[in-house]
Amino acid sequence: MADIIQLLPDHVANQIAAGEVVQRPASVVKELLENAIDAGADAIKLIIKDGGKALIQVVDNGVGMSATDARLSFERHATSKIKSADDLFCLHTKGFRGEALASIAAIAHVELLTRTATDEIGVQLKVEGSKISSQEPTVTPKGTSFCVKNLFFNIPARRNFLKSNQVEFRHITDEFHRVALAHPDIQFHFYNNGSEIFHLPKSNYRQRIVNVFGAKTNEKLVPVEEETQVVKISGFISKPEFSKKSRGEQFFFVNNRFIKSPYLHHAVVSAFEGLIKSENHPGYFLYLDVDPASIDINIHPTKTEIKFDDEHTVYALLRSAIKHALGQFNVVPALDFEADQNLETPYNYKAKLAEVPRVSVDASFNPFADDTPKASHRASNYEKPSAKGWENMYVGLESKVGKEADFSSVSFESETITGSIFDTGTETIDSVSTTFQLKRKYIVTTIKSGMIIIDQSRAHQRVLYENFLKNITIKEGVSQQLLFPLQLNFSITEVNIIKEIIDSLINLGFAFDAIDEENVLISGVPLLVPESEVGMVLDQLISDYQMDTPEDSFSQSDIVAKTLSKTLAVKTGEQLDSESQLALVNNLFACKEFKISPFNKPIYITLTGEDIDKKFF
Ligand code: ADP
Ligand code: MG
Repeated sequence: MADIIQLLPDHVANQIAAGEVVQRPASVVKELLENAIDAGADAIKLIIKDGGKALIQVVDNGVGMSATDARLSFERHATSKIKSADDLFCLHTKGFRGEALASIAAIAHVELLTRTATDEIGVQLKVEGSKISSQEPTVTPKGTSFCVKNLFFNIPARRNFLKSNQVEFRHITDEFHRVALAHPDIQFHFYNNGSEIFHLPKSNYRQRIVNVFGAKTNEKLVPVEEETQVVKISGFISKPEFSKKSRGEQFFFVNNRFIKSPYLHHAVVSAFEGLIKSENHPGYFLYLDVDPASIDINIHPTKTEIKFDDEHTVYALLRSAIKHALGQFNVVPALDFEADQNLETPYNYKAKLAEVPRVSVDASFNPFADDTPKASHRASNYEKPSAKGWENMYVGLESKVGKEADFSSVSFESETITGSIFDTGTETIDSVSTTFQLKRKYIVTTIKSGMIIIDQSRAHQRVLYENFLKNITIKEGVSQQLLFPLQLNFSITEVNIIKEIIDSLINLGFAFDAIDEENVLISGVPLLVPESEVGMVLDQLISDYQMDTPEDSFSQSDIVAKTLSKTLAVKTGEQLDSESQLALVNNLFACKEFKISPFNKPIYITLTGEDIDKKFF
């Protein structure tokens, strides 16, 4: 048989490598910014168009390249940063693989302008699909400008795979944040479609965080400082009361390189234990400095994961540094260590158990009355919904606190149930008359063939979800005018997300008076959303939206409805009085789909008489 093995031509090899290095425009941004930093620049400009699909340009004032180096920089494994394998263990630069430029040039149109301090004249290079198409001497400032156009022009499949401009823009912004936060000593400019998004002057770490995330961030930050032989930890955590539903602001940097580490994340979260609600996330900006020889950053092609030699020690040190910082800033004493952790409710909610009188059906209730307490955005995070004014379908659900469940109803089968979800196959329950609550988690009721155990939180999610989805799609959300418009403060990125989903929000019943860079003025909220919860709801929406960036308008509405239902539904641990239980069960079975929660979890289980009989054998 003839020999069949061939070496792949370079441009093909480069395209394959590009698949690893360049997943999307944001990957190009990351590589170019890192190169600029490695080149010693102290001022860097990032310019993008159409989510980076049309243009990504990075201009730096670093050391620049000679004409020969400029050509060489596009070769695979061409790097000035390591010379031998040993160098891998004492890396002080971001790059070292020498594949970024080769990969980018394989799948885009690249234009490079560069000049070193000692050369009087610079060079302009054009590269398309790995081939240098032109090289000319040119007048250009000291430093380097990389212009990357038409990403994936020669791989239509990859190009089609890219998300909308807005989504790609958001990924780029994330990447930009990571680099900018790690290098406060470098000045950054960021332009998108001709307008300036960020202008970050040289500053210190704290000021950089504030410049990136908005002035409101300053008061939230608690400094963390710890120096040991293994690691030097510095940076900031956000005060527990500012913990958010969204994971947004969580950053680890090791030797000024952004990294992801679920393990270290866990260390931080565990230091916050008991101080924040279990579903909230602490914000942190933590900078770890370690001996480069004690880490391996080589294990991940895009280099966001690293391996520490002594992970356990770093974990323990980090955790204690954060506990220490929290203690020093007097955040801890507010904690009630005796609180029943099983309830997983915030401690100040516990206090409410005693003071809130129970309310049953309020006959004179006016859904348009604004009787929810005024609360500021962030402070509202701990507030439980004060949901008087919900419409009929939720009647009773507001009085979660009250007498113990009525167990007298257990022994009797309800006579009023006419439909059966088991016998007829039509799967409807007409109405239920008796219920009881089990472990503050389940609602149990009897049906003709036996009993049914309903997860209260999932059931309520389903009811709310269908209601919200309906409101969004038929644009019939009832709005509740606020007496005083609510001003909420967000970061630039967060405001951009709100703008993206604003149509869904308006359909739901939100009314916006004004939106500027960092502030949103809300003059109306959906009937079902208590004013005190608005900030939290929007936080959660932003975070869910970031994690699962939807493409079409249906999935956008779907996310909005899901988030609202998740945020506003009763939770495990909440006590429901019998009217609430009943209302919930009846509303559930009036839903189009009552078996599965919006998050694809079963809502109830059934035990037939036979199942029960078997237990007695
Ligand atoms: P790496 O960064 O891993 O070395 P790259 O492909 O990103 O690999 O870059 C190849 C080489 O090109 C770098 O090692 C560096 O010498 C040179 N280079 C890239 N970008 C710049 C820049 N902005 N300024 C100066 N030199 C650069
Ligand atoms: Mg590089």
